Amino acid sequence: LDSKLPTTAVSVFSQMSALAEQHQALNLSQGFPNYPASTELIALVNRYMEKGFNQYAPMPGCMPLREQIAHKVSDVYGLAVDPETEITITAGGTQALFTTIATLVRPGDEVIIFEPAYDSYRPSVELFGGKVVPIRLLAPDFSIDWQQVRAAISDKTKLIMLNNPSNPAAKVLSPDDLKELEEILRDSSIFLLSDEVYEHIVFDGRQHQSALSYPALRERSFVIASFGKLLHTTGWKLGYAIAPPELSREFRKVHQFNVFSVNTPMQMAIATYLKEERRYRDLPAFFQEKRDFLTEGLRGSRFAVQPSEGTYFLLLSYQGISDLSEMEFAHHLTINHGVATVPIAAFYSEPCEQKLLRLCFAKDTDSLAKAIDLLQKV
Ligand code: PMP
Ligand code: GLN
Repeated sequence: LDSKLPTTAVSVFSQMSALAEQHQALNLSQGFPNYPASTELIALVNRYMEKGFNQYAPMPGCMPLREQIAHKVSDVYGLAVDPETEITITAGGTQALFTTIATLVRPGDEVIIFEPAYDSYRPSVELFGGKVVPIRLLAPDFSIDWQQVRAAISDKTKLIMLNNPSNPAAKVLSPDDLKELEEILRDSSIFLLSDEVYEHIVFDGRQHQSALSYPALRERSFVIASFGKLLHTTGWKLGYAIAPPELSREFRKVHQFNVFSVNTPMQMAIATYLKEERRYRDLPAFFQEKRDFLTEGLRGSRFAVQPSEGTYFLLLSYQGISDLSEMEFAHHLTINHGVATVPIAAFYSEPCEQKLLRLCFAKDTDSLAKAIDLLQKV
């Protein structure tokens, strides 16, 4: 077979989770919660299955769920989005990303991404013949040099992919960042894919800046979200894309022949749950407590914790502990110290060694306490 992705291997998340299992290590690598999902939400899924919601959903998604998403956007950002023409329910954020790229990218198009970048971005672009133009962000602050973005734009630039709050850098962009981007894209024909799956997980009083809130961005944006992050249910693989009507129409043309529609009883259950509970308001405090517990607990260890502004990840520096590469050290830590993490070198397309590991803190308190105990002994 002439591989379409010759340089792509099994994802680092699958690799590290498998290594964790093999060595019975505490798995802080792949990003997922290890505490139970809401019992009310699970009961609602059962109830909708019993009531007979077991057949295909409408292609763009169940209307009650699209209405609740519109309600949430209005509640959080004070903006009106039309559930009929602007919201499409997808199989997780991943399918929304992939479908957006499939909708836009033609062979030879250039797509700007910021590295460290979420692992699905590059292969998805390359599958459609796009050329990735990476802009490297470096520790410690991972901020964007907007001059560099201006310089990277060419007449072939089709799309910019932004991830805010960003995985794995745990960086939250400021209003000035979004305004800069708005100025860059205004009057251009470049689209924006704004991956906002961690929109509700921002810390220390920060406000998430959605691309939806910036008119010159909104008119050219596909904004991606994930119920996995919102409801602590990554295994349900449900998410959505918000885009202006004309862009949503094209997105749905691809979506209907990719999956057609996604899980009906779960869509209905989430709609009812969101209507009854506005729990997304509690997420910053919920995760900030976990972030602070872990950060405090690692004080006095040989690791240095980098501040996490958002997402449920933080970065740990092992500078001063070892000269091993990130991948080697991540293996060492899993096999010999019982804690699995992700080397952030895996999120760069060119070699980049910063002695940084990503660690997921969406875990119950016992697991975080165990992590502290194990990492303090390194
Ligand atoms: N984008 C980013 C930045 C992510 O971290 C994730 C999930 N880890 C996704 C997209 C995919 O979301 P989902 O699990 O809903 O497919
Ligand atoms: N998004 C999760 C992470 O960043 C993993 C998702 C996956 O395994 N594909 O860890």
